[in-house]
Amino acid sequence: MEDKTFQISLKCLFCDCELQGKTEEKYVPGDMIKCQKCGELNDYDALMDVAIEEGKKSVAEYATDEIRKMLKNTFK
Ligand SMILES: [Zn+2]
Repeated sequence: MEDKTFQISLKCLFCDCELQGKTEEKYVPGDMIKCQKCGELNDYDALMDVAIEEGKKSVAEYATDEIRKMLKNTFK
């Protein structure tokens, strides 16, 4: 399986729409990511937890560390 075909989307914890990271900004633990749709601030760490759980389910053979790496790329 190639990285290209593996995608985890981060969803707003409030309205469930897909969050888009700013391409020129890096997110780090502790950051708040604003939802473009409902304007609520999502806690980065909580989003990571949810996304990692999703990743575990959909791609069981990927180790958590691999998923974390991919998530970093999502919000580069
Ligand atoms: Zn939202």
